[in-house]
Amino acid sequence: LNVTHYLRQHIRTVPNWPAPGVQFRDITPLLQNPKVFRVLIDAFVQRYMDPALRPDVVAGLDARGFILGSVVAYELGLGFVPIRKKGKLPFTTVEETYELEYGSATVELHADAVQPGDRVLLIDDLIATGGTMMAGKKLLEKLGASVMEGAAIVDLPELGGSARLRASGLPLFTLVDFG
Ligand code: 5GP
Repeated sequence: LNVTHYLRQHIRTVPNWPAPGVQFRDITPLLQNPKVFRVLIDAFVQRYMDPALRPDVVAGLDARGFILGSVVAYELGLGFVPIRKKGKLPFTTVEETYELEYGSATVELHADAVQPGDRVLLIDDLIATGGTMMAGKKLLEKLGASVMEGAAIVDLPELGGSARLRASGLPLFTLVDFG
């Protein structure tokens, strides 16, 4: 089975959403079909069960990174920590603000979510400009952890985000590219 080809067939492209001119890559069909969902999750689990690549903890980015990250963590026998949009986490947090095309966004992480020295796998569904994943990496580093790899289903390489993340020293693992 060619996993990239198989998964690509189940990603839905929605034109002009959430704004005119945007081609949104909708990953919900991958979750909806149990066979596809298993192929998707197993692609990550197979990689990170390798002792050389096994993280200490899995962090997921709000909100689709929660769906993937929690299942991957569970299958690996690891804990899961959510990185949330500002205002959702009840306990003491660290926060990071980053620039969007219009305006800015802030993400938060509980101050005790990871320990200094932890090697964290950071998961989201898609890398566009890379801003969201970079903010997550900075949050984890504020707590003294390191991100051993960033993982996503989809990379949009033409937006340059994955290249920027790699240039910052973050290894990336993605399953499907869309030009
Ligand atoms: P970035 O911060 O890399 O520019 O954007 C990535 C973030 O925005 C991810 O959290 C992702 O969920 C969301 N995102 C942006 N564009 C898309 C898209 O076309 N499809 C999906 N599924 N998510 C997107």
